[in-house]
Amino acid sequence: MNIESIKKLALENHVPIIMDDTLNKIEELLKESKPKRLLEIGTAVGYSAICFEKYVELKIDTIEQDEDRILEAEKNIKELNLNNKINLIKGNAVEILQNMVIEKEEDKYDFVFIDASKSKYPIFLEEALRLTTKNAIIVADNVLYKGYVLGDYNKHKQRTAVRHLREFLQMIKENEKLKSEILEVGDGLAVIRKEK
Ligand code: SAM
Repeated sequence: MNIESIKKLALENHVPIIMDDTLNKIEELLKESKPKRLLEIGTAVGYSAICFEKYVELKIDTIEQDEDRILEAEKNIKELNLNNKINLIKGNAVEILQNMVIEKEEDKYDFVFIDASKSKYPIFLEEALRLTTKNAIIVADNVLYKGYVLGDYNKHKQRTAVRHLREFLQMIKENEKLKSEILEVGDGLAVIRKEK
């Protein structure tokens, strides 16, 4: 098993993994910021965490709740001998993050990748802001959600996700301490810098 075969299998099985242009952009940010500790919300089968690993100095904590994907991610991480670097946390990210306490500034995350349930993005952002260092970067994927978020759109079965993504975009716009941009890569990538 290598990274290309993990990607191929994920695509064949319709597992939603990071798109190539989004991955390229995040890799640029990782090279620039050289994080020590990265938090990923939404592991799926471990593809993005495995891609990020070489740019992260100490460790990646990545959260997943789907049992089949957890098994697949564990297998992939183990086969690539990355158990010491990538720590898979199993369960609902909302509960896990709300219960997470990091006391020392130096133990906090300096990079976060939000890539799980869109209707939870406002909560994920709030917790990410609490659990990160003062000059951390927080990146969130799929924030434009096929154009629905910026469009005149409210009659869709996904309208809860759209409403929460709009709330998320409003939160980053209104927070004067953050410097944020929305990039048109993949399905819309928010890049949020805590220190201007
Ligand atoms: N980051 C992965 C990659 O690019 O390889 C893809 C992640 S996929 C888009 C989103 C994953 O988040 C799914 O596997 C889903 O089961 C998981 N997920 C969604 N909501 C979650 C939650 N509240 N807690 C934990 N995992 C969640």
